Amino acid sequence: MRIAPIIVIALTLCIEPAFIGKAIAQRSGSTAGFPQNADIRNIATGVWFLKGGVNGSSNTAVIEMDKYLIVVDANYPGRAKELLQIIPTISPKPVKYVFDTHAHGDHSYGNSIWTSAGATTMAFSGVSLDMDKWEPARWQQAAKRRKDMQDTGMGDVQRPQKSLSGNRFTLKDGHREVEFISFGWGHTEGDGYVWLPRERVLCTGDAAVNGPYNKIIDANLTQWPQILDRALRLKPRYVLPGHGEAGGPEILEGQAMFLRELRKAVSSALAKGQNPEDTTIDLPQSSDHWVPHAQPSLWRQDIVTMALELSAKRPAGSLPHEWR
Ligand SMILES: [Zn+2]
Repeated sequence: MRIAPIIVIALTLCIEPAFIGKAIAQRSGSTAGFPQNADIRNIATGVWFLKGGVNGSSNTAVIEMDKYLIVVDANYPGRAKELLQIIPTISPKPVKYVFDTHAHGDHSYGNSIWTSAGATTMAFSGVSLDMDKWEPARWQQAAKRRKDMQDTGMGDVQRPQKSLSGNRFTLKDGHREVEFISFGWGHTEGDGYVWLPRERVLCTGDAAVNGPYNKIIDANLTQWPQILDRALRLKPRYVLPGHGEAGGPEILEGQAMFLRELRKAVSSALAKGQNPEDTTIDLPQSSDHWVPHAQPSLWRQDIVTMALELSAKRPAGSLPHEWR
């Protein structure tokens, strides 16, 4: 009987933090009648991870400060409306800031929903620059098939109200410090991360996703894995990705490995004179988790985008391209 507590402690140490997905408390189903994708996980005291995935939605993080909440990623308008109903079930404090990790629609098109509810949207300055570069064409293309966007009555994404210059911005109160960090152009030119130094939680947006969910057409594919190496040097305990399950630093390592293996394989194909539009690319098993086998057109896009960057010797995202 006396060894029981020792076993419990040993088990606790074993499952923390590598298997966070199983170890952390789950509150699925706590939001009665609302909605099918209300997967809410308590990552640390006052830090929640709300998994997206339905109707193209991204993941969301909610960070509780003394008097208010910070939401990471505005999401699509429909999901933003859902979140406005879900979040009061986890904390009664008002949402004061909504941070867009980058300009892609599944992370930012809900901006106007949040500002109408009284929050202030913010992002690094590169996000508005990306929006100015790609919008309103992408908004209008997506709105054709998205009722939640049509319902906003808008013809363009609302720009973040607060634009962060430099590469670091900190919000701090008696209990928590939240750092907003720009490491440079990886997934998009305006990429921003959210880092909780005390809890060692890192929100990455799509700079790191946990599975075959990424779209790399706006990326700087040469710099991106190096940036993930820099993010790893923060030594995060928990990584909250833009898509897929929460986990630990293995998400950053895997995303970087995928990009490096893709580069190596496409480089080798180009050296053999193969056409990136139809050549077969196989990556090592260690990168397979990030390969979109179920979406051959997205996989082809990955290969072609990498080939474009390698041939042009410029970031793929800086070359003329359209959202596909
Ligand atoms: Zn994205």
